[in-house]
Amino acid sequence: MKILTLNCGSSSIKFDVISTSVEVMQKGQDYSIVRGVIERIGTENAIVRYKLPNGDGFKGEEKILDHKIALKRIVDILTGDKPRILNSLSEINGVGHRVVHGGESFSKSVIINDAVENEIIACSEFEPLHNPQNLSGIKVASEFFPSIPHVAVFDTGFHHSIPAKAFLYALPYDIYQKYKMRRYGFHGTSHRYVSQQAIKFLGIPSENSKIITAHLGNGCSITAVSGGRSIDTSMGHTPLEGLMMGTRCGDLDPAVILHIMNKEKLNIADADSLMNKKSGLLGVSGISNDLREVEEAREQGNERAKLAIDIFCYRLKKYITAYAGALGGLDALVFTGGIGENSSLIRELSTNGLEFMGTKIDLAKNNANGGRICKEDRLVDISAVGTDGNYSRVRTLVIPTNEELIIARDTVLCIEKLL
Ligand code: AMP
Repeated sequence: MKILTLNCGSSSIKFDVISTSVEVMQKGQDYSIVRGVIERIGTENAIVRYKLPNGDGFKGEEKILDHKIALKRIVDILTGDKPRILNSLSEINGVGHRVVHGGESFSKSVIINDAVENEIIACSEFEPLHNPQNLSGIKVASEFFPSIPHVAVFDTGFHHSIPAKAFLYALPYDIYQKYKMRRYGFHGTSHRYVSQQAIKFLGIPSENSKIITAHLGNGCSITAVSGGRSIDTSMGHTPLEGLMMGTRCGDLDPAVILHIMNKEKLNIADADSLMNKKSGLLGVSGISNDLREVEEAREQGNERAKLAIDIFCYRLKKYITAYAGALGGLDALVFTGGIGENSSLIRELSTNGLEFMGTKIDLAKNNANGGRICKEDRLVDISAVGTDGNYSRVRTLVIPTNEELIIARDTVLCIEKLL
């Protein structure tokens, strides 16, 4: 089968066409035929980029004023002559859509129908930024692909296995009952993919496995995965909770924000923007939300940049040890996401001192290729080998995430009625 995956944001659409089937995915032989993105949709100079595995591709600026025009451009890319990607659009067997919030309704990916669309709308209350965009992407794609199944794959789905003791906040219980205020967790497809890859690499029985996955990008979250299932994760009711991020503060005493609102006469929108857009690496360093720039400033001796990175890594280390405790042991710690895959500094500082629990990285392996994972690498093991020739008890792995692959696989499984 050929599956088109779509990730629709407010001004961008990421797309991928993946060749897969039940048999092929079991062998791990599914692959991307073309991958691309259209950014700055709604402007005269939108950026269109795509790449084929053989290196062919395109990058240019074009006028793309809305998502419908953007999707038409994607269809033209897929059916164009140079390069020839598909002979006809009918080769696409299904469309998999990333949907950020599935609330308590969706533990698994589902074929989209009117009832599913209504639930996605209902969950927009929790995710007013992304869910409406995801839904409008579904509607536009249905116009271009009216007669094949469309499947929704939820960021929150993987975290449905989290038990109540970990998903409930210690607020009066009726707050949960009335408003469904609880931990939902995000980045689920990424945590799911890299934990599966780690289990496969280690060759251990999935049901006994204990893995911690750290997805560190502009948004950051960490998950405790026991027996292949998420049992706790750092993001909460919204993606604001947990680790320090590019512009989000992560964990915070809620009284602090009430106090600042009072002192600075902030309204709810101001407070939201303070915590979500002006904090994190950007807020502490005063330099950037982009770790590369903060790392550069730190190199040049900037104290605030150093402090921002120290806070980032200290908090990450605290979560790693907390989740090792929650799991009652650990087989592997996995780094993924733009930061996890590319920053040897963050991997080093956040694992430094964890030797007591069997986590020790090899600094040379960690720094190989400037710390960046090669595109061809499916997994890099940066664990230290002791004088006895054995790997450290807990393996530390760097695994490039592939959310599109999970979306495509789930789409096939839904089409085949196996989910
Ligand atoms: P993502 O949201 O997964 O695309 O990740 C974005 C984050 O990855 C940004 O903070 C980037 O600065 C960071 N990043 C990407 N490449 C590198 C690199 N080579 N070194 C350090 N950070 C990087």
